Amino acid sequence: MPESLVDTHVHLYATAYDADRDAVVARAAEAGVTQLILPAVDIASIHASLALAERHLGVFVMAGLHPTYLAEEAADAFDQIEPLLHKPSIVAIGETGLDYYWSTDHVDLQQDSLRAHARLAAIYDLPLVLHNRDKQGREDCSRDLVRILRDVKSEGLGPLTGVFHCFGGPEWLAADVLDLGFHVGLGGTLTFKNAGVADAIDGIPLDRIVLETDGPYLAPTPHRGTRNEPAYVPLVAQRLAEVRGLTVDEVARVTTATARRLFKLPEG
Ligand SMILES: [Zn+2]
Ligand SMILES: [Zn+2]
Repeated sequence: MPESLVDTHVHLYATAYDADRDAVVARAAEAGVTQLILPAVDIASIHASLALAERHLGVFVMAGLHPTYLAEEAADAFDQIEPLLHKPSIVAIGETGLDYYWSTDHVDLQQDSLRAHARLAAIYDLPLVLHNRDKQGREDCSRDLVRILRDVKSEGLGPLTGVFHCFGGPEWLAADVLDLGFHVGLGGTLTFKNAGVADAIDGIPLDRIVLETDGPYLAPTPHRGTRNEPAYVPLVAQRLAEVRGLTVDEVARVTTATARRLFKLPEG
């Protein structure tokens, strides 16, 4: 029996899965991907994820507002999160973070939201899941993320750890991720030629890495360009094993143990 895997980031409530969601979960289990963590993007997606966690064993939920959804959400959206945190299927705060790729119109809103999410994560001792996407050739998001996380850590509200999901550098960021006590989430982009992800994770120990798909987006090679799904996590594990000169089983064992420890998931 091969090691089981965790998809630490899949938008299972996305309409892309409406036609065959149960089959997607079944295929994941067949591929050994027995636990799925669903990042929220808005309030509706938190509730959709909670419903999926009721329906499927091994499905867990994050609560948070995605940086690119903030401007569309109700003014009190953030305040709706804290009352949900007692629910046992909620294992993280996210996905929050910064995204200057699509627009820099709401930078202040994004930074305030990130700070508020980080404080909530510290106070409730929940891992924080971060989205980080810059304009081509820029590193502003990464710099602002690190600065805000250091600020919140220095407030001493509680422990603060989490994941830089879909990690892809810049290369200097790896040292800050480690210094902050955070982890990186790796998915399909690790399998893309010329994406530079293997170089960006060079100094990151295996026990600071968790696996993800970010489905329905960013399907790994050879499915690139099609709908992604949790059953493809083994392809990411395979690529990581190649990059590190390890067996797939070693990668699976360590990344699964890290994910379970970080998100406080049950065994299998
Ligand atoms: Zn993201
Ligand atoms: Zn996401």
